[in-house]
Order: sequence, then C-alpha cells, then structure tokens
Amino acid sequence: MLPSNIKIGIIGGGQLGKMLIEAGKPWNIHYTILEEANAPASSIANKHIVGSLMDYEKIMELAADSDVITYEIEHVNIDALHTLEAQGKRIVPSPKVLEIIQDKGLQKLFFQHHHIPTTDFELLENEEEWSEKLLKVKGETVVAKLRKGGYDGKGVALVNKKEMLAHIRSIPFTEPSVLEEFVEGAIELAVIVSRNESGEINTFPIAEMEFDPQANLVEFLYSPANISAEIEEKAKRIAMDAIIKLQGVGIFAVEMFLDKENNLWVNEIAPRPHNSGHHTIEACYTSQYEQLNRILLGMPLGNTSLIKPAAMINLLGATDVSGAYKITGLEKILATEGVFIHLYNKAETKPKRKMGHITILGTTLEEVKEKVLMVKNTISMKAV
Ligand code: ADP
Repeated sequence: MLPSNIKIGIIGGGQLGKMLIEAGKPWNIHYTILEEANAPASSIANKHIVGSLMDYEKIMELAADSDVITYEIEHVNIDALHTLEAQGKRIVPSPKVLEIIQDKGLQKLFFQHHHIPTTDFELLENEEEWSEKLLKVKGETVVAKLRKGGYDGKGVALVNKKEMLAHIRSIPFTEPSVLEEFVEGAIELAVIVSRNESGEINTFPIAEMEFDPQANLVEFLYSPANISAEIEEKAKRIAMDAIIKLQGVGIFAVEMFLDKENNLWVNEIAPRPHNSGHHTIEACYTSQYEQLNRILLGMPLGNTSLIKPAAMINLLGATDVSGAYKITGLEKILATEGVFIHLYNKAETKPKRKMGHITILGTTLEEVKEKVLMVKNTISMKAV
C-alpha cells in the first residue's frame, strides 16, 4: 500500500504529534488527531477530532477513520485501545506495552522480573505503609514517585528519610507510589530504540542531559554522549534488550542513569518519540519521527546515524510570563549556521511550559556548546 493511502490516527495533538505529522508530509500521509481544541498539531493535521484522550467514544471515532493508531502521550484511555486491538485494529505500540508503562510500579516489576538493571524499590498503597517501606530502601535520600499520572517530574519527590521518619516533612503522595533508591551524582542518558513489526531493531546515538547545577534542571541535551564506547555499547544493549522483552513495536525512549561506579540503571521507558530525540530531526539521517512513521507504515527502519554533533535546548515558558507572549532574539539566532528553531504553535505561555525547542549542530561538541551559550544569552520570552 502506498503511504498516501494509509490513514494514521494519533491520540494527542501536542508538539510530538505535530512533529510526527511534519515528518510524514513528504509522503502525503493522512493524519487525524484526537485532542482538545487549539492543539499544536491542529493546524497541520488533515482532520482534528476535538475531545479528551480519555474519551472512549472519541477514540472509537478516531479508529473508525484510521488504518493504524498511535499515541503521543501515555495518559490515554487504555480500555478503548484493548477493545480496538481485540477487534483487529493495529495499535502501535500495543496496549499491553502501554499498560505496563502507564504504571511506574508495574514498570519497575517488569524490569526486576526480566533482569533489566534498575534501582531497588518498594511499592506502597497508602499512607500507613510509608514508614515501613521507607526503611527498606537504602540511602539517606529516597525517590518517591506516583505510580500513575506523573509527567515532566510532576509526581516525583526527593525524600529525606530521617526528616520524614521524624515527621519533619509530610508525605508527598497519598496515592499508590514507588519508593526507590536515589542514584547520587548520576549522569542521565536517553537511548531511543526503534523496533518494527518484523523485529528489525536499532538505536539512535545516545543523548546526555546537561544539568544546571544551581536550578537542578536540564539545561540542554547533547549527542553524542560524553561516555566511553564500552558504556555506550552496554547502554544500547540494555535498552534494546528491554524493548525486545517488552515485545515493543514503535519508538521507545529508554531513560538511564550512569552512576559514579559506571553502573547503568534503567529509570523508565516512554513508548513514543521523546524530548531527548528532538535533535534527530536535523542531526540524524532519519529522525525519531520519520522512524515512527516508517514503523506505522510497515516500512524498513531508517539509518539513525548522527550527521553532526548536536544539542537541543527546550524553549520553556519564562517564570514571570503567563498568557500571550513574544519571543525575541530569533533574528540573531537564525543568522547562525546550524541553528534550527521549532515553535509549537501554543497561543499562551505558562511558567516552564514547553513552547518550542532549538537544535544546534556543529562540527565538534565544543563548537555546539559555544553556540548553545550564544543562543541562551540571546533568546528571551516577553509578555505582550
Ligand atoms: P517523569 O516521568 O515525570 O519524567 P522521572 O522518573 O523521569 O519522572 O523522574 C524525573 C527526574 O527525577 C529524573 O530525570 C531524574 O533527574 C530524577 N530522578 C528520578 N528517579 C531518580 C533516581 N532513582 N535517582 C536519581 N534521580 C532520579
């Protein structure tokens, strides 16, 4: 079947959906999105079904008009996906995979069961279990995570064990949660894995997050990661092994920690294109978005090699601006070679909201990092 005859349905119409559609435009793929009104992807989707990602009937409506369904976010109505899969509709990745990933507790149990390296953890159901479970996790600091519903660090809290046991700090979550060992001084890596229905598998070059030590926020990420060839190979092997064990078909971002003793620990898996792979649009022969389109269409995987070293900066909403906004400094940035701006078509900003991103290419990582500094010092967001 020619790609132009295939209709792809995307649950969600945010920036990830927008970039998936952008990557499919040269192939004239037909896209329908399901998303609330004014979505980033609505201006370029062929059809927009307005509604909630949790709405069973709306997902059925989307499926009726699509040959294959994918999703750009984990928080969708999974019952609808199970029903559709049972009816023979292609859902990529499969709802069985999503069911594990939607729940951080099930994910940890899956890693443990399949000997995928992950930090030790305890699961708790309610407030009463906190003290007992907290004592079982090693270390002064413990990471608490809501099992369901968290994203972008919301639903994650660092807990000082002593303070909490002495009731100096209150319990961050009362819902079912995971308590896990904190990896101190970890380097954060992301390995994006692609796997198609014939079982063909590859990975993208690893991306490394650069943290702002003061704010403890990801400043920018870059690829290739500053790690040895041996660790790179090992990280890729662990990531592919995890996806094979999941029997995953699609694009998966496997987030990992590299500790001070050079151990790798899988943090979590995202079953979709990921923030850590935005740079692949310009930096790799095949982007993560084109790769997902290939997988959705049943095509062979594309070459994921880096064309040039790259960095990616998230363009986040300024902390002092809400509502209508303008971005300044774009002229100077665009006059620089190897700088690419992506804006997500969001009418209003909020503090820390992902408004766009900038990809920077260079001949060496040093050159890339110099350009990152220039871009960060030049761009700003103001209220209008
Ligand atoms: P989310 O799904 O909301 O992105 P994550 O599980 O990725 O949540 O956690 C968010 C951030 O918290 C991570 O990127 C990392 O910086 C930190 N973090 C999470 N778990 C650990 C851990 N076990 N050890 C050290 N840092 C952690």
